[in-house]
Amino acid sequence: MKVNQLFKAHQVISFEVFPPRRKSPSIDFTRIYGTMDALSQLDPDFVSVTFGAGGTKRQAGTLEIASLIKSEYGIEPVAHLPAAQLTGAQVDELLDQFATHGIENILALRGDIPKDGRVSNDFPHANDLVRHICQYGDFNVIGACYPECHPESKNTADDIAHLKLKVDAGATQLISQLFFDNQVFYDFTKNCRQAGINVPIEAGIMPVLNQRQIQRMAKMGGVSLPDKFVSMMARYADNPIAMRDAGIAYAIDQIVDLLVHGVDGIHIYTMDNPTVAKRIVEATRSLVRV
Ligand code: FAD
Repeated sequence: MKVNQLFKAHQVISFEVFPPRRKSPSIDFTRIYGTMDALSQLDPDFVSVTFGAGGTKRQAGTLEIASLIKSEYGIEPVAHLPAAQLTGAQVDELLDQFATHGIENILALRGDIPKDGRVSNDFPHANDLVRHICQYGDFNVIGACYPECHPESKNTADDIAHLKLKVDAGATQLISQLFFDNQVFYDFTKNCRQAGINVPIEAGIMPVLNQRQIQRMAKMGGVSLPDKFVSMMARYADNPIAMRDAGIAYAIDQIVDLLVHGVDGIHIYTMDNPTVAKRIVEATRSLVRV
């Protein structure tokens, strides 16, 4: 099933998971089974599977995990496909494999630049990849978007103009980068609509659970941390359990506000932590428009 169809019926709730780290040629499925056993209980609309996120080249496994999500859990997978790490021939080979495994939904990305700096320039921007996938096969193609502007962009207007190219090339829905200030997301959505970007936009929400995550986000740049968030995290810096609970409460608070404002969908960056996803979904499920 092409997951863009779901937005017509209700507010969409989806999750992101990572493929396991690969230490040998074979994939250790133990952890992903544990994660998916728990996440499937929460009845997500779809689960997306990253591909070498952070430029780690941890790509191996996306196809296998996405196939497993579909065949063993009956949940629609979305396979991430980052062009920077792949040649055109590798992209086509993967698309053939996705089609063979019944994977119909692809998140088409320019991708994080690999740590060794080596990129393939067959698809310089995500819109090039979106266009190629739409022409290549019968896929639903999704794009990424950045409520606070992509860090490489000169300004918001440029970033939204590039996003429009992605949608015009065939992306039927968008998933946002994480953010902590809902007003930023509302302003971004309004700017998108004014620019003629009319596809559903899911809000990416990441529950912050520890100091390590906060440091990583500060390094990543492009995501502002509201005073309320900063003071909450500072208050519980020495208490990991309280910090985790505060991070979950903050995410729930954001989601409630987004649902009330009629957001198209919520994409939870689960960090492969189903316990946290469960607390968030259980606290907000009754608020989702069905
Ligand atoms: P693009 O849309 O190509 O944008 C990148 C930059 O180029 C922006 O500044 C944009 O404004 C500019 N640009 C776009 N089109 C043009 C154009 N035609 N001409 C000139 N400039 C242009 N990375 C991974 O490696 N693996 C993952 O699994 C992964 N998952 C992600 C999931 C989500 C929901 C999000 C939001 C990001 C994810 N990323 C992942 C990170 C993403 O790959 C990086 O943010 C990357 O830097 C940009 O990818 P993009 O597809 O958004 O690129």
